[in-house]
Amino acid sequence: MLELHDVVKKYAIGTFRQTALDGVSVNFRRHEFVAILGPSGSGKTTLLNMIGGLDRYDSGDLRIDGKSTRDFKDKDWDSYRNHAIGFVFQNYNLISHVSVLANVEIGLTLSGMSLSERRERALRLLERVGLSDHIHKKPNQLSGGQMQRVAIARALANDPDIILADEPTGAIDSETSHQILKLIQEIAEDKLVIMVTHDATMAKKYASRVIGLQDGKITSDTDPYETNNGNQGRLSFKGTAMAFAQALKLSFSNLRTKKFRTAITAFAGSIGIIGVALVLSLSNGLNREIDRLEQSTLAAFPLQVDRVAFNVDIIRQQGGGPPRRVAGEVFERFPDVDEIYPYELPPFEAEHINDLSPEFLTYLEGLDPETYHEMTMRYSVDKHVYHTLPSGLAARLNTGRVNFGPTLMDDAFFGDNYDILSGRQPENVNELILIIDEYNRLEASIVQAFGLSAEIEAYGFDAFLGKTFQLITLDDRFTYNETTGLFTPITDADVLMNQPDNIPLTIVGIARVSESAISDFLTTGLKFHPDLTPLLLDDAQNSQIGQAQKASSSDVISGTAMDESLRRIQLQRWGVDPTPRQILIYPADYAAKQAITDYLDAFNEGKDDEDRILYTDLAAIVTELTSDIITGVAYVLIAFSSISLVVSSVMIGIITYVSVLERTKEIGVLRSLGARKRDISRVFNAETAIIGFFAGVSGVGVAYLLTFPINAIIANLVDDLNRLAVIPLAAVFGLVAISVMLTTIAGLIPSRIAARKDPVVALRVD
Ligand code: ADP
Ligand code: MG
Repeated sequence: MLELHDVVKKYAIGTFRQTALDGVSVNFRRHEFVAILGPSGSGKTTLLNMIGGLDRYDSGDLRIDGKSTRDFKDKDWDSYRNHAIGFVFQNYNLISHVSVLANVEIGLTLSGMSLSERRERALRLLERVGLSDHIHKKPNQLSGGQMQRVAIARALANDPDIILADEPTGAIDSETSHQILKLIQEIAEDKLVIMVTHDATMAKKYASRVIGLQDGKITSDTDPYETNNGNQGRLSFKGTAMAFAQALKLSFSNLRTKKFRTAITAFAGSIGIIGVALVLSLSNGLNREIDRLEQSTLAAFPLQVDRVAFNVDIIRQQGGGPPRRVAGEVFERFPDVDEIYPYELPPFEAEHINDLSPEFLTYLEGLDPETYHEMTMRYSVDKHVYHTLPSGLAARLNTGRVNFGPTLMDDAFFGDNYDILSGRQPENVNELILIIDEYNRLEASIVQAFGLSAEIEAYGFDAFLGKTFQLITLDDRFTYNETTGLFTPITDADVLMNQPDNIPLTIVGIARVSESAISDFLTTGLKFHPDLTPLLLDDAQNSQIGQAQKASSSDVISGTAMDESLRRIQLQRWGVDPTPRQILIYPADYAAKQAITDYLDAFNEGKDDEDRILYTDLAAIVTELTSDIITGVAYVLIAFSSISLVVSSVMIGIITYVSVLERTKEIGVLRSLGARKRDISRVFNAETAIIGFFAGVSGVGVAYLLTFPINAIIANLVDDLNRLAVIPLAAVFGLVAISVMLTTIAGLIPSRIAARKDPVVALRVD
């Protein structure tokens, strides 16, 4: 069944070549117990490794069932070892960190047997070698003889045709040796057993054939076997492969024996993960907080469309750069000359004139009323309001001091921002409401504008409530002179107070800015009914003086020539020109704001730059800027914590390499059992993956626990910031994956070193 033809094996030691096998030719029968006898260094182990496919011959041939092995590839040898060969070593070579049972099972897992089959078979074999009571012990809990029995059971596991035993009793006392040899003798009844020994009496007592070996040459053979190569074999072995699950299991049990080291390694690996997780949790929390702020508070800020707008893009384009003497010419910095250059500042292009044309205003009317609380048009129309002072004299209310704020008629919005202290909201054009601040204060200048003394400490509500003013329409403020065709302003307050077209305005309520109000932009003063402004605009456009000024390029009051821009301002202040100065749209909520900006953007679609309507979303500018800063800072911090990820990865690589060194013998054993190189690297990759997984999980876990004290500290420092740091779920999975990935990469080189180890050299290591 096995034939060796002139096998030569030489080892190179430097330039010297040591001949270990020097032309060995020998044949073996299918069933026999062969003892190879020879002094130390005669080449016995080399011969056995050669037969077992662990080592390669330099020349000659090894024929298995008549088939030459000269063209055998690595995988053929792996499969041959796994299926046809069982090794028994002098020093047992058991894997110390797994149980007796697992040791026997390992060879079976390589041949892809099911778990229950494996278990059953291993138990049967352990029973056969008399170790049924010790299956859960670790190898180092057994005596030498017991360990060799485990090794024999393992060698028999795959039911190989050939058992190769290298001085199996070399480290066992003679009493036990006899028992072991009897066991091997039994096995040899239906197998080929080749046993190496230097004990001649033992060899002669138990073996059926004794071959003498000296200096790599066969010197004697008690029962030579001649064959004529007639027996052409049907040699076919299944491929061997270790399931990844098995590799994981093996790595797991190895790591379990080194709990402390594994824990330290995983901890080191987790530091970077903790850092990244915390940074992510904080930036996540801050961005969430900003979003919430924008949605709740800042959303109430109006979208603003101003006649004179600032184009942020233009400002950015213009930003910085050296000043130009004229367009295009650039100055040199710190020139070494005795010259002075006059230069012109570039024109201020940042302004954009929004044409708030009737077309745009009509377009705005198409905006879904559900999306906003209030749309306020602000005009530069002067309000001429007169009232009777407590002294009985008529006087103009100083409207420059009294803020006629925008009307806020949306009930919900009004309710959110104001509390009515007395009276009610204006219900028609004739009604006003007075707004005071959160301390019930009213600015002295406003008090004085009412003709009241600011020296008095407190006024009752009735000092303001029910007060009536006269709003004088445009034409009523002038008398027309038919002869000159000019208009003269009326200055007598009593006359103005009693003009027929006056609009009486009565304060019907007093409201205070509420606690939940965005007090920054809600100013105190008088708020009027929204229908008042259209009424004034309408009146102004139909007024005599308005028509006259519109038609004339000179001043209709003085009769002198008028600058065009002054004329425009005049028309706006009178309300003859109905173009608003500013439009404020108070969005209903955050989503509605999106809808509004989309609607405004749609207006600009396909328009030239100068025809576009630019709006200001102050809240968005603030939040964008803030979250940009947070993201930037987060990147820097993540970069820093990534350094510790790299450091820990390198460390894990080194530790894996140490593990490779420690487990060299195990690598040899696995190879002798038929494990492929890939299986070996798998074992180590599985190990680093496990460490990486633990590092990732514990890193995220520790980071999660740390968010509690961090959040407590933040909540202590900043009101309303509860549970700020929250690790995003995606980061949890992402970081564990990154950790597994990094440590696996770190372990690739050591695992490759492990896979490349020569099994023969590996087995010789003690
Ligand atoms: P035995 O098992 O009979 O004691 P070996 O087969 O181990 O002998 O060794 C045979 C000869 O080959 C010895 O001289 C030994 O020094 C040499 N040898 C074995 N393995 C190696 C090796 N890996 N490198 C160099 N020399 C070796
Ligand atoms: Mg030897």
